[in-house]
Amino acid sequence: MEKELLKCQGISKCYGEHWALKDCSFSLQRGSFNVIVGPSGCGKTTLLEIISGLQKETKGEIWLDGSKQKESIRRKIAVVFQEPALFPYMSVEENILFGAPEDADFDIHSKAREIAELLGLSERRCQRSDTLSGGEKQRTAIGRALMKGADLILMDEPFSALDAPLKQRLGDKLHSLQQQLSLTLLYVTHDQNEAMRLADHLIVMKDGEIQQQGDPRSIYEHPQNTFVAGFIGNPAMNLLKAKVKGQKIYFHQEILPFPYEQTLDQEQEVIIGIRPSQIEYGSGEMSGVCKETKYYGDQIQALIEWDGYLLQVLLPAAEALPSCAGITFDLRRCVFFDAENGRRLDLY
Ligand code: ATP
Repeated sequence: MEKELLKCQGISKCYGEHWALKDCSFSLQRGSFNVIVGPSGCGKTTLLEIISGLQKETKGEIWLDGSKQKESIRRKIAVVFQEPALFPYMSVEENILFGAPEDADFDIHSKAREIAELLGLSERRCQRSDTLSGGEKQRTAIGRALMKGADLILMDEPFSALDAPLKQRLGDKLHSLQQQLSLTLLYVTHDQNEAMRLADHLIVMKDGEIQQQGDPRSIYEHPQNTFVAGFIGNPAMNLLKAKVKGQKIYFHQEILPFPYEQTLDQEQEVIIGIRPSQIEYGSGEMSGVCKETKYYGDQIQALIEWDGYLLQVLLPAAEALPSCAGITFDLRRCVFFDAENGRRLDLY
């Protein structure tokens, strides 16, 4: 069986003069958890609406299961919105049953009970949906999407209105359900922590454009540009302006050896990306000053001033931090970007 389920090719959307989406192309594999992440207004919802058929693209093409026919695509897709659109006077089970396909060739009532059980809603089956908690409402909406037996489920920030622990629990539940049932999901969020935790395939967007896509680890380790570097990872990657000249890197005052054989153009302005967990404070010849600390149980997030830069540093919380100490980082583990266009430089 073909593994690719959905293919979007060059999707663009223009509202008046404003291009909300610009040439977005990606594919989704069957049985995978796909997440679109990006800041507010970057076009996530518009993209989902175009795939579901609620909006029409200005340019581009969509194939589902090798077919370009809009009607058949729509029948094979279910959508779960940010606000669970339930019938308030109906019970949980009736709402779930509402998703059943008209031509279902199975016992829809036992299927609805099975889905309620999977979602931990068995005890709520007969309860009116307007009396449910936020999390129960959203699980009912997911149940209706599962009942449809759709090939692809689109989810637009389904848990964003819930408090953080519940959001995490439901995300985990959805993740195990996706694995258990081999669902193909396309999930939208602006929360990069949630995106990293859930995704097999991550699509990072900004200003209507896909900035990078791939598995979360490769995006974290090899961000394509400074936007992705700063957006993915918490605390964010430190981005330091510097200059490379010959085999030396000129920071504000400090000069360190350029860690690659390759020489750059005569004098190149660069941005050097350093993950907060890759900086050591407490050893090394260069000196840092601790400006601020935040305590997170087994870790401390510290703001360290080094050479006129303010660096976010993640450290084990074993001991109290000295206000002044040595600082060190491995330049081979840093990511170098071209300061002019923000793109990663592939160095060797
Ligand atoms: P959020 O995370 O805040 O929901 P988003 O990434 O989902 O944002 P969209 O809702 O897709 O972003 O909007 C993308 C851009 O398109 C925004 O600038 C928005 O103002 C604009 N936009 C969306 N719908 C319309 C519309 N119907 N008419 C005009 N502009 C629109």
